Amino acid sequence: MIIAVKKQCEEKQFNNLIDWIKDLGLDVHVSHGDHSTVIGLIGDTSRVDIDLISTLDIVESVQRVQEPYKNANRKFHPLDTEVDISGHKIGGLNFQVIAGPCSVESEKQIIEVALAVKDAGATMLRGGAFKPRTSPYAFQGLKGSGIELLLKAKAETGLPIVTELTSVNYIDMFKDVDVIQVGARNMQNFELLKEVGKTGKPILLKRGLANTLQELLMSAEYIMAEGDCEVILCERGIRTFETMTRNTLDLSAVPVLKEKTHLPIIVDPSHATGNSRLVEPMSLAAVGAGADGLIIEVHNDPVHALCDGAQSLRPEQFKALMGKIGQMLPIVGRKFDN
Ligand code: PEP
Ligand code: MN
Repeated sequence: MIIAVKKQCEEKQFNNLIDWIKDLGLDVHVSHGDHSTVIGLIGDTSRVDIDLISTLDIVESVQRVQEPYKNANRKFHPLDTEVDISGHKIGGLNFQVIAGPCSVESEKQIIEVALAVKDAGATMLRGGAFKPRTSPYAFQGLKGSGIELLLKAKAETGLPIVTELTSVNYIDMFKDVDVIQVGARNMQNFELLKEVGKTGKPILLKRGLANTLQELLMSAEYIMAEGDCEVILCERGIRTFETMTRNTLDLSAVPVLKEKTHLPIIVDPSHATGNSRLVEPMSLAAVGAGADGLIIEVHNDPVHALCDGAQSLRPEQFKALMGKIGQMLPIVGRKFDN
């Protein structure tokens, strides 16, 4: 349920209303906008008398929220959320590009790629240390030492780091990580979602391979229910009958999610297509669709990459793409925040 409060409402009356709602055993989420203040009620609102609330002097309108996601719902928070990652904002008018290799492979590799993506204008470095691989015989990542190497690359370049946590068992190693990624395969690992929500860090939540947008929003809700409001959603392609691309990039997810939620939404054209030639057109399409950012795989030697070489851009290809993104952003009313 959401209550829109009149602009001229007195603080005392407002606080009385909040206390009354809390006494009913509900949580409140207050969002102050330019034109009105919205109170979101979270919990079992079936016993709340909507007619009674409507009659209060300070109340403009009351509306039941049918959707099961509350904190993530745009009705609760009409303005776009801007997630701040070490001074780089994502969401609102701000567009960010996260770039780096699929996996951290060596100090030389991660530092070379970090310097190259920074030079091209990326504002965050990605790199997997714990890799969720389909085959148990495939490269599983450098794990703890991979995190150490990412931190070295951060010290060298100043780029905040984004890396995937595959299990609650490793969470202590992520203390200095700037953004914790929850990968597609773990989107509905509810215990993991609860634990990352407790860290209070920005969380990059990727859509599952076969999950609906409502399920994605419910997973964001798990994180937010722990008090962590800094969630970035990521469309990374879904399973369909099509076999010519690794996944099918569901770009309509971007405008649909923009309507449903205030959280930033980024697109991963690398895992969506599986093919480096398709990364540029789908990146530009994502900008056109209104995405708040991109996460792109870049490797200094894709032919010898230990993971996902076929979808990785070389640094010079990435730089050329960044130039085109920069040209497109003003057309869609956005800007790089760097
Ligand atoms: C990744 O970004 O490294 C990754 C494994 O992606 P996804 O979870 O989307 O498959
Ligand atoms: Mn990858």
